[in-house]
Amino acid sequence: MKVYEKSHKLDHVCYDIRGPIMDEAQKMIRGGEDILKLNIGNPAYFGFKCPDEIVDYMARCLPDTEGYSDSKGKVSAREAIMNYCKEKNIPNVDIDDIYTGNGVSELIGICMQGLLDDGDEMLVPSPDYPLWTASVTLAGGKAVHYICDEESNWYPDIADLAKKITPKTKGIVVINPNNPTGALYPKEILEQIVELAREHELILFADEIYDRLVLDGAEHVALASLAPDLMTVCLNGLSKSHLAAGYRCGWMCLAGNKTNCKGYIEGINLLSAMRLCSNVPAQSIIPISLEMREATNSLLVPGGRVYEQRECVYKLLNDIPGISCVKPQAAFYIFPKMDTAKFNIKDDEQFALDLLKQAKILITHGGGFHWNEPDHFRVVFLPDVSMLRTACQRFARFFSTYKQR
Ligand code: PLP
Repeated sequence: MKVYEKSHKLDHVCYDIRGPIMDEAQKMIRGGEDILKLNIGNPAYFGFKCPDEIVDYMARCLPDTEGYSDSKGKVSAREAIMNYCKEKNIPNVDIDDIYTGNGVSELIGICMQGLLDDGDEMLVPSPDYPLWTASVTLAGGKAVHYICDEESNWYPDIADLAKKITPKTKGIVVINPNNPTGALYPKEILEQIVELAREHELILFADEIYDRLVLDGAEHVALASLAPDLMTVCLNGLSKSHLAAGYRCGWMCLAGNKTNCKGYIEGINLLSAMRLCSNVPAQSIIPISLEMREATNSLLVPGGRVYEQRECVYKLLNDIPGISCVKPQAAFYIFPKMDTAKFNIKDDEQFALDLLKQAKILITHGGGFHWNEPDHFRVVFLPDVSMLRTACQRFARFFSTYKQR
């Protein structure tokens, strides 16, 4: 009998929590147990709603969206994105430099596949949003992880980044604001990354999907705005800022100086055309969404849900002996550190499983984000304050006695 295995290309792809943790969670849920899911960055799951005006507008557009669009996307959507780039000082983005996608996820795959040959290296942060490492790997490349430093607010460690550049390095991925740490990088750090890219003639990849989810009145600086002389592939979308994750709406812009990237752009155009086009109804809401930003802004200020939830989780987790966390300044993630000596933690996947079984909380362990030490986990703080309080009480009870065996 023929036996079909998964492709070997997937052997080293690690993506989110699968395997024993997910199997156990599903078994417990089927058994009627009440699991607190702090592992999903999906606003709709926690009662956040895409504004009615946007949903109604999409419904009205449906009759006009029956055919394929241009493979790069509708002109109206790309014009709105072009204006957004201008607003963010992202240089040299013309309508032809913009591609809409079925979420940023699809475009991450396209921009890696279009560039990498076997053995090419891509600098990816650790911890990372794991789709980046997976996409580099599936494209035949090698993800080389540079450290983001918890002692410095989780900013990229520039010395580590510099020492990992080799003749095979093609580019640097920067996720800002960051998932899973919630860090927002200051201009000075971004400038140093740009300087390295300049020195070694590398392409920059800026995943900025959380750029409209910034707290404390801070300002997000677009990486491309600091690098007009280099090519930056900028990625953004509506999943998070407009609470519209299910619509699958993202975009990619090729910014800056593209003179030595003509071949690469040809590759991107080919891959973009091969999928015919991205979801057209989702493209139709890009102009109205980029005009309407108050809905999310109100979540980010004192009294707003995201702000209050961040305050709550940050305080209550830090109050637990053996747990410490850096305050996130953006997005809706916090990446707490555990005192591994106190809890005798040697294996963070085992910790996640123990937490699930004993405290009935589902989180993602640090290893799920290509973090090499077994001393971190990510909490999504999208649940409302009362659910977060319950979760933190369960965390406190669990950690008061936990010793890994
Ligand atoms: N990039 C980052 C950093 C993310 O956290 C996510 C989703 O969680 C994505 C990209 C994918 O977003 P999309 O829904 O647009 O595919």
